[in-house]
Amino acid sequence: MLEVSDVSRQFGGVYALRDVNLKVAEGELRGIIGPNGAGKSTLFNLISGHLPADHGTVSYNGARIDRLAAHRRAALGIAIVFQAARIFRGMTVRENVMVGSHASTGAGFLSAVLRLPAHRRDERLIRERADAALGRVGLADWADRPAETLPLGQQRSMQLARALCADPKLLLLDEPASGLRATEREALSALITELHETGLTIMLVEHDVAMVTRLADRITVLDLGQVIAEGTPEEVRGDQRVIAAYLGEEVAT
Ligand code: ADP
Ligand code: MG
Repeated sequence: MLEVSDVSRQFGGVYALRDVNLKVAEGELRGIIGPNGAGKSTLFNLISGHLPADHGTVSYNGARIDRLAAHRRAALGIAIVFQAARIFRGMTVRENVMVGSHASTGAGFLSAVLRLPAHRRDERLIRERADAALGRVGLADWADRPAETLPLGQQRSMQLARALCADPKLLLLDEPASGLRATEREALSALITELHETGLTIMLVEHDVAMVTRLADRITVLDLGQVIAEGTPEEVRGDQRVIAAYLGEEVAT
């Protein structure tokens, strides 16, 4: 479904990613791990189109997408939940989810401001999508609450719902469990598993290696911008280079 070939990206002469190759099969849950600064978020930005690569190609369902803008890739079914994604304070949970959806309907921002008829039709559609997405993540009963009153675990579910509004086929999750307590992590893990079981292809960057090991079909390990290992969780866990990359790095439990 996804093929990243020889992708490199530098920032100020330093490689954030260097000659990265990876393939993700449809329906797979791929874990991406690696120390801070390894290039995990950069990889997601290159796949979703929020950053251009200096070099290399990205293909999705057999077609090159690396020259497409982020919204075009989103329309093809690629959704991203950013690391430390923002919530909009003073807005309800439903409104927070709807905000992410405006870009994916036709009428756009200008007609939203002018409140044209096309916009009112869109608004209804977006609201229906938002409620369906909130149902998928178990937040149907929370839709009318101010977003900032949600516990952190539910805020993360809300971010997931925002991404699900576009009915993605490939979902990129960047450290969705960071800062969550153990019970919240378990609930989020269960939700990710459920989404995976509905056929969604998922790439999961997560600092909690134990969580990734439990959830992922395969794991790719990045270090200093390069893929240093890839395989099943069992294969990766015993890899000497992986163990070395994590030395001196506090591994979350
Ligand atoms: P990770 O998500 O694995 O922690 P990142 O992809 O965020 O790593 O960062 C990889 C490297 O690229 C780091 O050295 C980081 O400082 C650098 N980097 C990432 N984004 C930028 C940016 N927008 N400008 C400058 N340097 C960046
Ligand atoms: Mg990151």
